[in-house]
Amino acid sequence: MTILKKEEFNKKIFSKIEKLINQYNLIDNGDNIAVALSGGKDSVLTLYALVKYQNDSNIDFDLTAISVDEGIDGYRKHGIESAIKNAEKLDVELIQKSFSEEVGFKLDNIYHHFKSACIPCGVFRRSILNKTAFEIGADKIATGHNLDDEIQSFLMSFSRADTIKFSKFGPMLSMIHPKLIPRIKPLWNTSEKDVGIWAVMNNINIHFDECPYSNISLRGKTKNFLNKIESKNPGTKENIMESFKKMILDIKTQKNNINECKKCGEPCSGLICKACEITDLISNS
Ligand code: SF4
Ligand code: ZN
Repeated sequence: MTILKKEEFNKKIFSKIEKLINQYNLIDNGDNIAVALSGGKDSVLTLYALVKYQNDSNIDFDLTAISVDEGIDGYRKHGIESAIKNAEKLDVELIQKSFSEEVGFKLDNIYHHFKSACIPCGVFRRSILNKTAFEIGADKIATGHNLDDEIQSFLMSFSRADTIKFSKFGPMLSMIHPKLIPRIKPLWNTSEKDVGIWAVMNNINIHFDECPYSNISLRGKTKNFLNKIESKNPGTKENIMESFKKMILDIKTQKNNINECKKCGEPCSGLICKACEITDLISNS
């Protein structure tokens, strides 16, 4: 009975992901896809789903995984171990990067300069992922963003009146600069709950630890808020996603201006990129 349930569940979750990939043309023939593999359940499911899609579809593409160690004691090590094990199991090459080697410090040592540790964490992780993907000639970066992450980001930007960020939403972020690798989100319409069920049912080797900085972040608070509403009014998350899908179609047509950072040459929206801005702030304080 359990086996049947597991098979049915797997079929449902993988066909949902496959449908999204096909519907939005997330992967093309000849693509070299870099998967951002943190070792958490979302990135691990993304890797499993893309390997399955590679075997089942008639699209011919390559996969490489990239992990980034931010330098969070007692947390990230478990994620890296799970990234290594899952990449090995699926026979996908894993490139390991770290804040220490790439930017010269651990997140643990610099987070106190910011309102939330997630600010420098996100900035440097995105920058390292983009640079690494560019170096290996990747055409796209696949991330494990799920439906919950997407509506959290949406509401966070909404509550800050930061409508520019709306252009980052959707299952695919197109090429807006030759050095900015397009992003795809194969789990875009898969709920976090379903990702968790998949990982438990299939006994997947992942780490379930929560980042020690997650609760104090605005994202953590938004997540708790949404989970509370969802438990009282099931379907709220899906409805928010639906509203967002209707709105985003208009906003996405607005043009984005992308420049190159005057210091490091990486793509950015201002004159200096966020990574250089933050590095200056840390070294001057
Ligand atoms: Fe980084 Fe914040 Fe995620 Fe922790 S919760 S890994 S600090 S982005
Ligand atoms: Zn820069």
